[in-house]
Amino acid sequence: MSKEQDYKSSKQTGEGEESHQHQAGSRTDRDIDEWKHREPYAVHDVEKNEKFDVKWEGACHCGKVTYQLSRERPLAAKYCHCTTCQRLHGAPFQWAAIFHKSDINFTNGHHELGWYDPTSKSTTHHLPCKVSCAYCRSPIMDEGRNMILLFPPLIKKINTPEGREAFRPTCHMFYPQRVAEGFKGDGLVKWKGLDNMSDLLDDDENVLVQWEDGLDEKKMDEKKREFLEFTQKEGEVKRVKKSD
Ligand SMILES: [Zn+2]
Ligand SMILES: [Zn+2]
Repeated sequence: MSKEQDYKSSKQTGEGEESHQHQAGSRTDRDIDEWKHREPYAVHDVEKNEKFDVKWEGACHCGKVTYQLSRERPLAAKYCHCTTCQRLHGAPFQWAAIFHKSDINFTNGHHELGWYDPTSKSTTHHLPCKVSCAYCRSPIMDEGRNMILLFPPLIKKINTPEGREAFRPTCHMFYPQRVAEGFKGDGLVKWKGLDNMSDLLDDDENVLVQWEDGLDEKKMDEKKREFLEFTQKEGEVKRVKKSD
């Protein structure tokens, strides 16, 4: 199932309970131990000359799960206000940073993880699923079929100007479902649902561009640029050019 189809089918479940799977894909059943030997869980063996260029390090609260990242910046970072993220994180919204599965190297505790599949509400390792430390329950990542979504608060040195800049989000998803205010004028693009796959909103939830059947992510991105002017920074809105 594509991300788009998944979003559309979740749309039909009605407002309020609308959830998302950032990295939805075909649901998979895997042999019980097979996952230990593939990315993102396959550990790079430095002694065998497997190169891993460490740019960032992360750890759960108790410290049993630790990892390294080889990428300077995530492929993208986003805030998600959907109710599923709110509940699963016990937080007003989720801050997610997207990485390739090959960008992470677990240095400890990667065999002591807990899984949760929000679609079937089961604790089996179906993708996409939530991955947490089995001991302290810190959320470690969302594992999709192709990508992983990491949570920047686990990363050391995230509370620095460099950390904040590298993991700077470019948009709010599921903005109307938010429980917190304070985002007006923050220069981030706001979406009714998933980015580039739902209505584009202004800070007050007025629809700037309506999502229609027949649009795709690329076309929606083009339409977004017709309505919003961006600064030099990736994804930072300078102003709303026009509103319908
Ligand atoms: Zn832990
Ligand atoms: Zn979400």
